[in-house]
Amino acid sequence: MSKNVYVVIEQRDGRVQNIGYELLGEASSLAFDLKQEVVAVLIGGVGISKIAQELIYWGANHVIVAEDSRLQEYSTLPYSRVLTQIILTDEPEIVLFGASSIGRDLAPRVSARLKTGLTADCTGLSINLDNQLLMMTRPAFGGNLMATICCKHHKPQMATVRTGVMQPIERDDNRTGTIRSIEIAFQRKDFAVELVEVIPNDNISADITKAKYLVGGGRGVGGPEGFKIVRELANTLNGEVAASRAAVESGWIGNDHQVGQTGKTVRPDLYIACGISGAIQHLTGMENSGTIIAINKNASAPIFNVADLGIVGDLHVILPKLNDALKEA
Ligand code: FAD
Repeated sequence: MSKNVYVVIEQRDGRVQNIGYELLGEASSLAFDLKQEVVAVLIGGVGISKIAQELIYWGANHVIVAEDSRLQEYSTLPYSRVLTQIILTDEPEIVLFGASSIGRDLAPRVSARLKTGLTADCTGLSINLDNQLLMMTRPAFGGNLMATICCKHHKPQMATVRTGVMQPIERDDNRTGTIRSIEIAFQRKDFAVELVEVIPNDNISADITKAKYLVGGGRGVGGPEGFKIVRELANTLNGEVAASRAAVESGWIGNDHQVGQTGKTVRPDLYIACGISGAIQHLTGMENSGTIIAINKNASAPIFNVADLGIVGDLHVILPKLNDALKEA
């Protein structure tokens, strides 16, 4: 099963994370251009193989399963061992990881062991049809330019990919493929780090990358109390609250709400930007939203360049009126 486009699937408690489906979608299009196939790598504890078939429905031609009770919780060293063994044996052309906290930890370790390159935090991938190389695009210089990078001399070509940027392909339960379980030749040093306890974060707010409607607040909301009217509108829409980095860094809202280059990439049906100027680092995270409405008191704020609808005015006046009107509608 050499060559091919490999996708490292992230799962938590046996549930595939969205980035896994997004990467399978992207890998399908890369593999199509390369005339190769998509291989999903599924790593986890006993019982994980139950979800292998699902990955085929979402675009994998083949699934490799590394199932071991010691892989129940993510840990850098054993997971690196699994991937290094698979990559050395199969010699894939391309390996994709999510740019999640796990992918950002795992991918550099694996690339260093394999002495190959890694392009981190990609927002675009394509194949150069002339030389068959993977073109990996990512923001550079504080998001002021987009750099396209290719790895000419080393294999596999590896990338971590931002969540929420790539599109999954449609699930098709008639899709067929192969599932292969493998044994890993672990070494004692792979378990040098002992996981003592996993403490779930009960305070985690809803995932803004999954929301259909987002109301984003920036420095213009004026303080933590300003987020009250932002939240009220989000609740009326049955949506979630997003934020700019300026609002997060001011301590007005938690960083899991941050949209942008150093936050999350979102693609809701509707994004209402309130008191957000539209810095490039913020736009990177939300410009692919379905419809963008901007509310800003400065008529020349750059956010209006990407907005489908712009309202010039004070958000403290506009938001309550909009909220009341929506409730009555
Ligand atoms: P401001 O730029 O201060 O804009 C506030 C806006 O509110 C203004 O347009 C103003 O006209 C308007 N306003 C004020 N009062 C009102 C009112 N009453 N009613 C209506 N409008 C009002 N930023 C991100 O958001 N996400 C990121 O991930 C991110 N990553 C970064 C990474 C790097 C390496 C760097 C250098 C910067 C990054 N930034 C990021 C910061 C970014 O450059 C901007 O500083 C930030 O987005 C500005 O946030 P803001 O629009 O809320 O604030």
